[in-house]
Amino acid sequence: MREQIIGLITPTMAAVFFVLFLVMWHRGKMGNYVLAFALSYVFFAIGFMVTHVLDTAAFYTWHVTQFFYTIALVTGAWGLAQRAGQPPMLGVFFGIYVLAALTLAVAVVVTPDVGPRLVIINSAYGVIKVVTLMILLGTARRDAIDKLIIAMQALSAAQFLIRPSLTLLIENQIAADAYRDSIYYSVLNLSVTVVSLLNAMILIGACVYDQIKSVRERAELDLLTGLRTRRAFEQDVIAQVEKAKLEGVPVSLVVADIDHFKAVNDVWGHQVGDKAIAAFGTVVQDTIRDTDIAGRIGGEEFCVLAWNCDGEAAISMAERIRKRFAETQVEGMPEDHRLTASFGVAGRNEGEGYGKVFARADAALYTAKQEGRNRTVRIEHKKALASVSKLGAALADHPEDKPRAASA
Ligand code: GH3
Ligand code: MG
Ligand code: MG
Repeated sequence: MREQIIGLITPTMAAVFFVLFLVMWHRGKMGNYVLAFALSYVFFAIGFMVTHVLDTAAFYTWHVTQFFYTIALVTGAWGLAQRAGQPPMLGVFFGIYVLAALTLAVAVVVTPDVGPRLVIINSAYGVIKVVTLMILLGTARRDAIDKLIIAMQALSAAQFLIRPSLTLLIENQIAADAYRDSIYYSVLNLSVTVVSLLNAMILIGACVYDQIKSVRERAELDLLTGLRTRRAFEQDVIAQVEKAKLEGVPVSLVVADIDHFKAVNDVWGHQVGDKAIAAFGTVVQDTIRDTDIAGRIGGEEFCVLAWNCDGEAAISMAERIRKRFAETQVEGMPEDHRLTASFGVAGRNEGEGYGKVFARADAALYTAKQEGRNRTVRIEHKKALASVSKLGAALADHPEDKPRAASA
C-alpha cells in the first residue's frame, strides 16, 4: 500500500506540470510548443501509471508503457523543435519506436527476465533524446536558456542510456512479476522523477523567458509604423555603432522628416496624418536591409542606421526612400496628391560615436529643409556642420520644393 502511494508522487507531479503548461499556453496566448510540453507530461503520467498499476507479468504492460513514454518524449521533442524553429524529424522518431517495439516483442516472448526489456526500451528513449539534442544543436539560437535545454537533453539521454545497465549490474535478474519490488524500480522512480522535475523547471523557465522577450519586443515597436520607438532605436544603434567601431565596418545615419506635415493634419485630419506616417514606415521597411536599424524617433521623424554603408551609399538609400515615398498614394488623400520628405545623411568618421554622427545627419536634414525640402543632403565633416549651425533658426518655406540630392 505504502509503495502504491509513493508511486503516485511522480504522476501527480506530472499532472501538475500538465496543468501549468496548459494554463501558460492558453492564458498567455503562447505558441503551440507550450501545449506540446503540457501533453508530453500527460503522456508521461499515463506511461508511469501503466507500469505502476497494470500486471507487470503481462506482455501488454510493457508495450503500453513503451507506447506512452515514447509519445511523451516525441511530443516534448516536437515542442522543443518548434520553439527552436527546426523540423521535428517525426519520421526518425517513428522508425526508432517501431524498431524498439519489435525488438521488445521478441524479448517479452523469449524470456521472463525484464533486464533485456529494460535495456531495449530505455535505449530507444535515449536515442530519441540524442536525436532531440541534435535537432537543437542544429540551430543558431543560443541564449543561456537554450543552452540549459540542450544540457538537459544530454542529461536525459545519459539517464536513459546508462541507468539500465548500471542498475542491472547490481541486480542480475529481475522476474517480470517481481519487477515493482526490485531495486531497479526504485532507482527508476527516483531518477525519472528528478530528471523530469529538472526538465519541467527548465521548460517553465524557457516559457517565462519567451513571454518576457515577446512583451519587451512588442513594447519596443511603434504601433503606427512597426519600426522601433526612439528609446529602442537609440539603444540598438548605440550598441551597433560600438560593434562597427570594433569590426571596422562603415555605418551611416539617415534622418528623415515628412515635409509640411502640419498642413496634412490641418487639411485632411489627424487620422490621414497617421496613415501618412504609417505609409512612410512601410516604405522605409521595404527599402532597408535586415542588418539596418530603423526607428520612428519623433512624430513624423525617422532615422535609419545603415550597416556596412558609407555616406555615399547612404545617400542612394535615402534617395530610394525619398523617391518611393514621393510616389506613394496615402489613403484618405486626393488621388493626385503626393507627400514628400527631406533627408539628412552622415557617414561615421573615425572615432565618432552615435551622438556626433546624429548631430551631422540632423544638421543635414535642417539644410535639406532650408534648401527647399524633398531632397537629401549629406554632411561629412565637422567644419560643414559649423557652417550649418551659423545659419540660425530662420526657416523660410520654399514656394516650390524641387527634389535634389547634395553633399557638403
Ligand atoms: P517641415 O516641412 O518643416 O517638416 O514642416 P512640418 O509641417 O512637417 O513641420 P514639423 O515637422 O515641425 O511638424 C510636425 C507635425 O507632426 C506636428 C504634429 O502636429 C504632427 N504630428 C506629430 N506626431 C504625429 C502623429 O503621431 N500623428 C499625426 N497625425 N501627426 C503628428
Ligand atoms: Mg515635418
Ligand atoms: Mg518634424
